[in-house]
Amino acid sequence: MEGPIEFDVLGYVEPNKQVEVCKLLEKNSDKSRFSVRKEVLSSVKENKLVSIAVGLGWNEVQSLVQNTPIGFISLKIVESTYWVSKEMSYCDSHSLYFSSSKNCPVCTKWYVNTNSDKQKVKVL
Ligand SMILES: [Zn+2]
Repeated sequence: MEGPIEFDVLGYVEPNKQVEVCKLLEKNSDKSRFSVRKEVLSSVKENKLVSIAVGLGWNEVQSLVQNTPIGFISLKIVESTYWVSKEMSYCDSHSLYFSSSKNCPVCTKWYVNTNSDKQKVKVL
């Protein structure tokens, strides 16, 4: 059986905060400076989501959402390894996108609560 669900957090980049966002993403991911810049630029130009943090527990998601990192707007919480799309299910109570073959992992209590080892984003 599949283990408890972890979460990723995605967001849109504020157009005038690209430099701050690039710095944060470079610090918090293994991606190269070039691919981070490309991603941030296309987020701004094409209104695309970028990944802010991956493999978080629900507690870490809450603190990230309550202290949105500088330069990001309208954060989205999604079941880890998935991406926000029309095919995903959405739970209103938890503002969470999850795979449509399941029920909301938080409602059904099948999720990781704290995953501090894996926490990638230090809240600024
Ligand atoms: Zn729910």
